[in-house]
Amino acid sequence: MEESKMDLNDFTSAENKKMTTENDIPTFNPPIGDAPKVGVDGKSKKAQTFTPPTTSNMDPGCYYHPEERVVGHCARCGKNLCRYCCDSFGVTGGEYAGKMLCYDCTTKLVKDNVEELQKNHNYIHGQYTQCLVGCAIGGVIGFIWGLSGGIMGALLYMVLCAAIGGSASNFFHRFIAAIPGFFVSTGNMVISICVGLFKFIFCFFLYAIMALFETVKKILYYRNYMAQTADCLEKDSSALQCIRDRMEYSRVMNENRGMSLADLMNEGSELYNNSYARMVQEQGEEKAEAFVSRCTTQIAENGEIIRSFAA
Ligand SMILES: [Zn+2]
Ligand SMILES: [Zn+2]
Repeated sequence: MEESKMDLNDFTSAENKKMTTENDIPTFNPPIGDAPKVGVDGKSKKAQTFTPPTTSNMDPGCYYHPEERVVGHCARCGKNLCRYCCDSFGVTGGEYAGKMLCYDCTTKLVKDNVEELQKNHNYIHGQYTQCLVGCAIGGVIGFIWGLSGGIMGALLYMVLCAAIGGSASNFFHRFIAAIPGFFVSTGNMVISICVGLFKFIFCFFLYAIMALFETVKKILYYRNYMAQTADCLEKDSSALQCIRDRMEYSRVMNENRGMSLADLMNEGSELYNNSYARMVQEQGEEKAEAFVSRCTTQIAENGEIIRSFAA
């Protein structure tokens, strides 16, 4: 290794010296440490370290309004926010009360809300279906019973089977756990079978009635949850639209300093369909700002209602 390098670097002298004795060859130490730094032949293995200009120390300004001074940070992602953003994205209630959420996190929150609510609605529909299937099966059994018994039996079976369907896993867990108790030994086979059968029927009705209460409780809870979240997504999307419009409004106003709001709102102009601009025009900046500041809070609070679901 050393020798071949030497041959290349010091070809002529090495060639000559090789003719004499190997021991006389002066040791050549190529400047491994220094040379590559300079980038000899453009083949240097050790590239010079490039340090990008660090922006964190240079006070980069608001993430959305780089020219504005930073007065706060997003509670979720830590983005720099200016006074204007803090006014828009300050949360006054719920988990993020007293903190700020940036536009991106607010948007993400709405997306999470939609997904979570969809998931919970699907679950609830699944539970309703289970209940309906139980009801149908109970109806069939009840009908068969009705052929020999009566309408009361049919109804009883129907209600109990619907309840079991709605609380199936609880019912079967309890019932399976009770099975060993059905095999009783009294010394008399007939009595044993009778006692076992009685226990079986007793447990079936007891657990079915327990399932009935559980199912009713669950259905009431689901109904309440559905009612509470019924307009969450609609409110979320209009709140997000309002925030979006405010971002757009601030961008357009900044880019068109000197132009009047009325001009920017003319048909075909940038703020023509902007709901925030309309609000400013109709109710004044202060009221519009107060309104938009409630939007982020509303999205955050809706998220909490949506996530409060206990299956
Ligand atoms: Zn954020
Ligand atoms: Zn900002």
